[in-house]
Amino acid sequence: AHDMMVQEAKAEPDLLRKAAAGPASHKYAHGHAVVLAGPAGRGGAARLAARGALRIGAGLVTLACPPGAIAENAARLDAIMLRPVADGPALAAFCADPRISALCLGPGLGLGAREGGLVAAALAARRPTLLDADALTLLAGDRGLFAALHGGCLLTPHAGEFARLFPDIAERLQAPAMTGPAYSKVDATRDAAARAGCTVLFKGPDTVIADPAGRVRLGAAVYGRAVPWLATAGAGDVLSGLAAGLLARGMAPFQAATQAAWLHVEAARRFGPGLTAEDLPEMLPAVLREIV
Ligand code: AMP
Ligand code: MG
Repeated sequence: AHDMMVQEAKAEPDLLRKAAAGPASHKYAHGHAVVLAGPAGRGGAARLAARGALRIGAGLVTLACPPGAIAENAARLDAIMLRPVADGPALAAFCADPRISALCLGPGLGLGAREGGLVAAALAARRPTLLDADALTLLAGDRGLFAALHGGCLLTPHAGEFARLFPDIAERLQAPAMTGPAYSKVDATRDAAARAGCTVLFKGPDTVIADPAGRVRLGAAVYGRAVPWLATAGAGDVLSGLAAGLLARGMAPFQAATQAAWLHVEAARRFGPGLTAEDLPEMLPAVLREIV
């Protein structure tokens, strides 16, 4: 019965307006998002996330990468700043800057000891933090890391990542209901958010967003706006950047998740077939112009 109260994740112009630049505001007033990137040769996903964070209006975006990846990233980025961050302690030192208002970890990050240390340092910094992709895989393999999740976190798993993080919940979701009501993706996302103690955005054509208090929103694609061409390499990385950018601007995780999911689908819907992930940040100004 509670599913009948589940609402669509709609654009909330007031929220997005508050997250837009005021006439006399300084770039630091718009937040500073730090996107962690992996080693040289695999930085594309993190760059996509960083572009999403910048387009959604974070005042500053820094890509933090291993020293050996600075040259490659510098050749491909202009407005996005670069910072060598070798390991967890280096990230902890960087996070002493109180102006850093959100962290984004996962896209193209890597799965080694360095990356595990980065996730631990990010969680210890207790900032609004987006965790996706490799960061979710690292969380799935380390109980201590999972236990460090806090209310400022936002997890954005696809089905595979969800199953690694919450194997028992995923199994229940797959199992046919022999008796009683079926266990839905809404139930699964709500249970996952309660266990993690933070907001979970469970991706797919039928995206569901839930917070630990049991609030739920459904992605726009569920409401007849099918955008199958959004299932393209790197699209999830851009979503992570959009949500991290909104976190950086001060939006709470549940709202950042619903607004990022809506804007992501709307950008894809307007672009139409032939979309690649690079097009998503470029479509945002047209979408935002009509809202804020
Ligand atoms: P990822 O799996 O990390 O690459 O993320 C894929 C992105 O595409 C997520 O934002 C999904 O919600 C979205 N997505 C995947 N399949 C579909 C689909 N069939 N229709 C609309 N969106 C989709
Ligand atoms: Mg992904």
